[in-house]
Amino acid sequence: MKILISADMEGATGVTWPADVLPGTPQWERCRAMFTSDVNAAVLGFLDGGADEVLINEAHWSMRNLLLERLDERAQMLTGRHKSLSMVEGVQHGDVDGVAFVGYHTGAGTEGVLAHTYLANALTGVWLNGARASEGLLNAHVVAEFGVPVVLVTGDDLTCRDAEGYAPDARKVAVKDHVSRYAAVCRTPARTAADIRAAAKEAAALARRGEPAEGGPFTMEMEFDAAHLSDVSTVVPGVEPSGERRVRYTSGTMYEAIRTFKAVTTIVSSAMEEQYG
Ligand SMILES: [Zn+2]
Repeated sequence: MKILISADMEGATGVTWPADVLPGTPQWERCRAMFTSDVNAAVLGFLDGGADEVLINEAHWSMRNLLLERLDERAQMLTGRHKSLSMVEGVQHGDVDGVAFVGYHTGAGTEGVLAHTYLANALTGVWLNGARASEGLLNAHVVAEFGVPVVLVTGDDLTCRDAEGYAPDARKVAVKDHVSRYAAVCRTPARTAADIRAAAKEAAALARRGEPAEGGPFTMEMEFDAAHLSDVSTVVPGVEPSGERRVRYTSGTMYEAIRTFKAVTTIVSSAMEEQYG
């Protein structure tokens, strides 16, 4: 049994504000140890539950946050940027039986600690076939296309609630309870590691590769906080204006949809100014 862990940082233990997840800051240095603790707890739990292989895919920012030297030696880690499936890179090779979303968070424009979808602030909402979409929901659709279930989700309590919608059977662990976008009641790394390890052990029993899902076509709609950003995103072929500061496109598969989304967010990032966005 092979498990892929997609590891994001905003939903990690103890993380509540931007400096916690911004590479290079002293806060990030401290929080990356707690992030590593969450991920390693998931690794240990999956191994307890019978996994023979665990691959961790770093999915936050520059994708260089986890401390490799603190991970269980049976795990492997994919680190660094520029991967064709980004946050769920590795699922496409046909050998993954289950995916875990560790350190995930809620989507742009919704409640939740450090809520956003790919871009920290410029996107005020993302919808997939009319339903508001978080990174978890989008990536769950991507992995489903490869026949792989999401078996574990960790993050704040609202992330776990969000995951009930896209992965009802998955085990969930709330490592903190949302108070505001930048505040949470946090549990200690020792406590959350025990909770994550126990949940991952149970989640291993849910890992079973099946038939690829055929859910398309997929219409993605995005709303930005400024008109120049929706305008610039229409340089991506197929992306059309759909309302004030909104654009839309339709893809036949989620694989194409997530790659077009990546193209849009990359172009939009290049059009943003510091402070004013
Ligand atoms: Zn994220």
